[in-house]
Amino acid sequence: MLIDPFKRKISYIRISVTDRCDFRCTYCMPEKMQFLPKKDLLTLEELERLGNVFIDLGVKKLRITGGEPLVRKDIMNLFKGIGKRIGNGLEELTLTTNGSQLEDYADELFEIGVRRINISLDTLEKNKFKLITRLGNFEKVMRGIMRAKKAGMKVKINTVALKGVNDMEIIKLVKWCGENQFNLTFIEVMPMGEIGEKRINQFMPLTEVKELLGSHFTLNNDPMKTGGPATYMHCEETKQKIGFITPLTHNFCESCNRVRITCTGNMYMCLGQEDKEDLKKPLRESKNDNVLKDVIYKAILRKPKGHDFVIDREEKEKHVPRHMSVTGG
Ligand code: SAM
Ligand code: SF4
Repeated sequence: MLIDPFKRKISYIRISVTDRCDFRCTYCMPEKMQFLPKKDLLTLEELERLGNVFIDLGVKKLRITGGEPLVRKDIMNLFKGIGKRIGNGLEELTLTTNGSQLEDYADELFEIGVRRINISLDTLEKNKFKLITRLGNFEKVMRGIMRAKKAGMKVKINTVALKGVNDMEIIKLVKWCGENQFNLTFIEVMPMGEIGEKRINQFMPLTEVKELLGSHFTLNNDPMKTGGPATYMHCEETKQKIGFITPLTHNFCESCNRVRITCTGNMYMCLGQEDKEDLKKPLRESKNDNVLKDVIYKAILRKPKGHDFVIDREEKEKHVPRHMSVTGG
């Protein structure tokens, strides 16, 4: 069992399998993003070994993320490999995706044992989708989302609240998710990496989203806790749960149960801090998993109390230099 200095059990890991993406979302990365050379990436076999080691150390939930995880070549091999541990140490294997490849992969993911999936969607308008993602194909993503639903997966839509971009679509998104029996989580934009624009121009506090929703719907606090950072409300009219991830307006670090591994094998003990541990070296230097476990145990003891992101009107941004696509979400 992995326990940090603040007595938080680490039962959840997110593994980013690539920093590459077929989209260039305006809040995530600049249009001309520099990606890592492919030679720096861990192989799929190495990523599988890492996953297995963490499961042996008591991790119950594993999320594959990126960049866009489904653009990595042969990625289904990793899902198949780690999928063998479902019910054998692992309680849940899941992923976060932009949906662009789901038409092709949803059925196979379900067969492997993926039962819940997070799909990012910030707008229901085709033109706006292009503006936000720069490269995305709206119809393809919509077909992917519906394919995941048809395959039998529980779909959760993730929407980053963006001032002046999708604030006028909040009600529409809630209704659409309700009609399709999707859960929906709103996320505050985080100051991660340079994007060629000031974050304050994008930032919409979720307190404003809640106010807006409260004037249209009957919302009650929902006690559900998924082990993640979201707090939930139940919407009477649409009978769905609406989640709120508020790294800026309400810090949720006290219940943090996770660490994140990048595609190059760096383990970040906190999304919002720079400290990291290199797992690639012990992974490559020794076939003995105990060597790797020892490095992980020691690094967990450095897990900080929390992040300290700031976006404020004086534009004193406190951000981390790496983009969200490096550590994944
Ligand atoms: N490409 C996949 C996707 O978009 O779902 C997985 C990786 S993406 C980095 C994971 C999540 O992070 C997405 O829901 C995305 O909207 C969110 N995200 C990206 N940059 C962010 C930022 N600066 N602040 C808040 N959320 C961000
Ligand atoms: Fe790609 Fe996801 Fe970042 Fe958008 S949010 S650019 S889909 S990694």
